[in-house]
Amino acid sequence: MVETVRVRFAPSPTGLLHVGSARTALYNWAFARHHGGVFVLRIDDTDPERSTDENTAAILDALRWLGLDWDEGPVAGGDHGPYFQTERSESYAGALATLKETGRVYPCFCTPEGLAERRTAAGGAWNGYDRVCRGLDPADTAERIETGEPHVWRLAVADDPPDIVFDDAVRGEMRFPGTAVDDFVLVRSDGTPTYNFASVVDDATMRITHVIRGDDHLSNTPKQIVVFEALGHDVPVFAHMSLIMGTDGKRLSKRHGAASVKAFREEGYLSDALVNYIALLGWSIDDKTVIVSRDELVEHFVLSRIANNPAVFDVEKLLWMNGVYLRDMEADRFRDIMVGELERAGLTDATDAAARPEWYGELAALVVDRTKTLNDLPGLVGFLFTDEVVVEEDARAKILLKEGAGAAIVAARETLELVDPFDAERIEAALRGLPERLEMKSRLVFQTVRVAVTGTTVSLPLFESIALLGRGPTLARLDAALPLTTP
Ligand code: GLU
Repeated sequence: MVETVRVRFAPSPTGLLHVGSARTALYNWAFARHHGGVFVLRIDDTDPERSTDENTAAILDALRWLGLDWDEGPVAGGDHGPYFQTERSESYAGALATLKETGRVYPCFCTPEGLAERRTAAGGAWNGYDRVCRGLDPADTAERIETGEPHVWRLAVADDPPDIVFDDAVRGEMRFPGTAVDDFVLVRSDGTPTYNFASVVDDATMRITHVIRGDDHLSNTPKQIVVFEALGHDVPVFAHMSLIMGTDGKRLSKRHGAASVKAFREEGYLSDALVNYIALLGWSIDDKTVIVSRDELVEHFVLSRIANNPAVFDVEKLLWMNGVYLRDMEADRFRDIMVGELERAGLTDATDAAARPEWYGELAALVVDRTKTLNDLPGLVGFLFTDEVVVEEDARAKILLKEGAGAAIVAARETLELVDPFDAERIEAALRGLPERLEMKSRLVFQTVRVAVTGTTVSLPLFESIALLGRGPTLARLDAALPLTTP
């Protein structure tokens, strides 16, 4: 029988979901979906000082926004829970009991200070643990434990350990000398498990078949393999992917601007575009395909196509990709997204949008090519949603104070009053005659009208903007601008 693929994403809720972690989640998700397997979400909240419920909620929210649904985990439930490490102490106690029975752990009473002194005295001959407590008499240690003497539990590794070898699904054969793993701590003196113990117990009891994660965990893997073996569990397949760098070659962080999924969402990126961009940070279908939907990612996802070298996060490429997704989107969908953004910006409300779907559709068609991120929208269309425009000082100085601007406004007003029906085509036809009639340059005439109607020299196409604004408001704006020109 072929074993069902079970993978997990195990964030520590010590902050927001970073794009690097989002990529880990995405690859695990895609791998599970590709194989018809199970994607488990586990919350590694063992760091009580830095883990918060808000962070957990924000991580779940970010995963949902990215479209990464999990089969087992918080909210979803499942047969291998609980899915929060802080609720799994029974599992860790059970695993520790097993290791006690098989003699693979021993209590250690060394204080951190004592250990540090011995390490210094040894002049760097060893830096892990010198096994002082390994040879203690069991009757003696039982008594010390009984009297409440603080102690940790250490793994007793083999005396002459063989190399630890595993076949990493991304990096190929990895070999570590057995001596790289010392008698490390599994359970702290306060009874809590260390990461390397908790993670293995969880991966084992959750029947995880593949551990796909960042290569910042590569050095933990030999230790974890030793624990899997000590517990008598099968060792999962490991796949370690390289880190994500900023364009300066340093590990991607907040210094490079937005680094969390939430920040990109707030900057107006589409989830589809972000997922596509992150998917290609270290994975590819071939050497040319750049637009990859979630479905295509799932269809083509194989671990062997994860790149071995660090990926560079280039926000310019993401911006470009966002534009591609915006323009390729169904018109109605873009319109609805635009309406949502305008509502959020307080420019419109759902009632108005429902009452004038066509008007919003025309507006959407006008702005889509000019939108790089959703955050551009309020600025682009704001002039349509205000009773009065405020003419920018600079625009006034550059255009309205030019000679002839007043005459252009008067003439435009007279012309537009008569245009019927008030659509872009007829508005254009009517206004095109003005420059000649006024003996003025076209540019100045149209820029004057533009500044009067939109308040600025750079805006959406003029005739369409006027049509969308409607006759009444357009005439009112021309009237209001007239006193701003030179008499
Ligand atoms: N909680 C760990 C982290 O966020 C999980 C590491 C792992 O995947 O084993 O780095």
